[in-house]
Amino acid sequence: MQLFSTNNPDHLVDLKRATMEGLAPDKGLYLPTTIPTLPASFWETLKDKDFTTHAYELASTLLQGAIPEEALKEIIEEAINFPAPIVSLEPGMDVLELFHGPSLAFKDFGARFMSRVMSYYNRGESDPLTILVATSGDTGGAVAAGFFDTPGIEVIILYPKGKVSPLQELQLTTWGGNISAIEVDGVFDDCQDLVKQAFLDPDLKEAYRLSSANSINICRLIPQAFYYVEAYRQLNLKGAPLYFVVPSGNFGNLTAGLIAYKMGLPVAGFVAATNANDVVPRYFKTGAYSPSQTIPTISNAMDVGAPSNFVRLQTILGSTWNTIKEVLSGYAFSDASTREAMRTIHQQYGYIMDPHGALGYLAAQKIKSKNKKAHTVILETAHPTKFLKEVEQTLGTTLEVPKRLAELKDKESLKVSMDASYSSFKSYLLKAI
Ligand SMILES: *Cc1c(COP(=O)(O)O)cnc(C)c1O
Repeated sequence: MQLFSTNNPDHLVDLKRATMEGLAPDKGLYLPTTIPTLPASFWETLKDKDFTTHAYELASTLLQGAIPEEALKEIIEEAINFPAPIVSLEPGMDVLELFHGPSLAFKDFGARFMSRVMSYYNRGESDPLTILVATSGDTGGAVAAGFFDTPGIEVIILYPKGKVSPLQELQLTTWGGNISAIEVDGVFDDCQDLVKQAFLDPDLKEAYRLSSANSINICRLIPQAFYYVEAYRQLNLKGAPLYFVVPSGNFGNLTAGLIAYKMGLPVAGFVAATNANDVVPRYFKTGAYSPSQTIPTISNAMDVGAPSNFVRLQTILGSTWNTIKEVLSGYAFSDASTREAMRTIHQQYGYIMDPHGALGYLAAQKIKSKNKKAHTVILETAHPTKFLKEVEQTLGTTLEVPKRLAELKDKESLKVSMDASYSSFKSYLLKAI
């Protein structure tokens, strides 16, 4: 398997380098040079396969030997050890629940797979690998859960003080062992700047093995292709055109869907659902791509003004507006509409959806109004209790918190507090690693 940088098609690397670097040196994102199609036999026998079996077959086809088959099988069996069930709202409209992993969001798929691939590539190294990650909430929790207890890997998470929910904070700070959490007196951008500066610091670069686990790592996208196939396996479409509706922020989830599509998944279209951060829906309308300032919303995991995976999406589909519009569409909705949708879903179907999934429901309605025959699958990206206060206030009910989240309240927070200056962070790193 070879990968190229979206900034320079001649910059070719192997999967190990793409995984360990995350971002290409020219700041481009890595993509495979070829996305092979799966053989007809894969689809013919899909119904009889379990999730890990078809995930392994897809990965093996895509990776083309980048990781030996036995090791790859083991990685997938360990990483994908929770289900992605389809729940029907009504005939022709389903939900794909992606929140059954340890941190209750779909990011568990990416983080668990990436941690094991990094650990595989790190074997035989005598010095530990230190992963730095800046998070505004969900990514850090999934990365911590994914890397916890991974031999030879230390993880340092930076998050902005007072800007993550209390439960999210516990998901970052209660691990101990190889996971350290730093509460930075600043905003998310400060955390990200500290990480970026550390990577550029020659003192650290020479002395330590540093890597990142941010959302642009290609290793996080690969396992997200698996669950589109797992959704399709569970459906009985009876010839109806299939639309995946993807609540989107950085557009990694949607890009992973396109990888599955390129490998042969029979999809009529992908639909991006966004909040007020509507740069991609605006692009569909006007053909102009103009990133903007981030607007805070109740679906805060999607508050992204300049989605980094947009360039991947363009590269995979061929970059003209018309070719992109054949496969993709997108709709943006306000917080008020999101809350309204959460109430409707609860009343009509007795189903509780989080604000991100509720945006998906609204976009599914748009597709349905255009094409009555459409079969929509809405990706529910997080468990509603991750956004407990918002969901309870909107629905006027109390939710039952899953045990693995409720138990966190009894655990000790092990965070380190720090100001946002690089000198503080650097001296911490020099002592810690
Ligand atoms: C990260 C996240 C998203 C956005 O996913 P992208 O891949 O960045 O588009 C949506 N919903 C939830 C709950 C998330 O945590």
